[in-house]
Amino acid sequence: MSTFSAPKGTYDLLPPDSATFLAVREAISAPLKRSGYGYVETPGFEQVELFSRGVGESTDIVTKEMYTLTTKGGDQLALRPEGTASVLRAALQANLHKAGVLPVKLWYSGSYYRYERPQAGRYRHFSQVGAEAIGAEDPALDAELIILAVDAYTSLGLSNFRLLLNSLGDKVCRPVYRAALQDFLRALDLDEETRRRIEINPLRVLDDKREAVQKQLAGAPLIADHLCEACKAYHEQVRELLTAAGVRYEDDPKLVRGLDYYTRTTFEFVHDGLGSQSAVGGGGRYDGLSEMIGGPALPSVGWALGVDRTVLALKAEGIELELPPATQVFAVPLGEEARRVLFATVTELRRAGIAADFAFGGKGLKNAMKSANRSGARFAVIAGERDLTEGVVQLKNLESGEQIPVALDTVVAELQAKLA
Ligand code: AMP
Repeated sequence: MSTFSAPKGTYDLLPPDSATFLAVREAISAPLKRSGYGYVETPGFEQVELFSRGVGESTDIVTKEMYTLTTKGGDQLALRPEGTASVLRAALQANLHKAGVLPVKLWYSGSYYRYERPQAGRYRHFSQVGAEAIGAEDPALDAELIILAVDAYTSLGLSNFRLLLNSLGDKVCRPVYRAALQDFLRALDLDEETRRRIEINPLRVLDDKREAVQKQLAGAPLIADHLCEACKAYHEQVRELLTAAGVRYEDDPKLVRGLDYYTRTTFEFVHDGLGSQSAVGGGGRYDGLSEMIGGPALPSVGWALGVDRTVLALKAEGIELELPPATQVFAVPLGEEARRVLFATVTELRRAGIAADFAFGGKGLKNAMKSANRSGARFAVIAGERDLTEGVVQLKNLESGEQIPVALDTVVAELQAKLA
């Protein structure tokens, strides 16, 4: 062991488990790639203010959880705690919204950082795949994104997840609701910090997980009863489109989520096998965010799905993904000449698209065969001096144990045929 270990709240992704992570990222992004979403990558850090303005001055993410730093040049930067603000910033900076047709549809994948109290499923460094559709107000777009997330989970074989759905209203009805909620909350018996929150962002009080608070919230006014006609009609269309696509959802009138920028459609995916950190993904519409960060009015919608928790959800459901084998053929040379010849064969196999590996480090036969078996390969190609003088190699089926000599110059074609 080294003197160092991974920082608190983080973990290393190592083979073989890391292959599942890659497959989950791939499975989440696959539906996006065939739906017009283009890949975007932004820096791991941004100006602090992008997040304080974008995510919200009163959110836990900004007030408590951001990793901030001052550069030698005096810039205030933050490791990105989420993806939406950065992606929108990038789209605005590159004028993507002016360049072509709206919406601009983007997807991303990467690491995010939040200084949270670590526990199972909650880390300080975690991984998300996200999607944003920028510059269109259309219930079909909200429905599209939700359907694509459901399809991603389903393609992984997951079934024990639920979709919670709500509408947070818009700039017409939200302020009226906000005032009604504030009146209700001010009359409750709450601690100092929560009372402050009532004044800054009362909707977030609904999100309070403490039982003593939840009890008092029983009769709280709900946004559903305050939606304006336009928001009601919009939400109804989203629901109809989801139903038509066979997507089941649960109305959750208290779903507000931890970021300030959401308007209208909000949703969260929860998995029932994960204990307290049950949210595997979430998102919603953020019609005002562009203006909040200095851009034009660009109504938009997006989501981010947590890769770490999706992997945990697979484990909770006992799902093992069928992954392509890391190694299909393992070469075992006996002697110097065989090393040279089989190394060339391995290169040729790889160029022919076959996953091949080699007994490096001049191992003896016994150790080399151990490596071959551990690699998970279906075949070993073994050769010694005598084989080579006869122009053959030994092709061993590692599942059946059967071994046959094959002419050296046909072994690549032979393996291609056997592995096809
Ligand atoms: P959010 O940006 O908070 O809406 O998070 C979207 C998704 O990212 C969540 O549903 C989780 O799956 C994942 N996520 C958020 N925070 C963490 C964390 N600290 N550790 C692991 N996954 C997280």
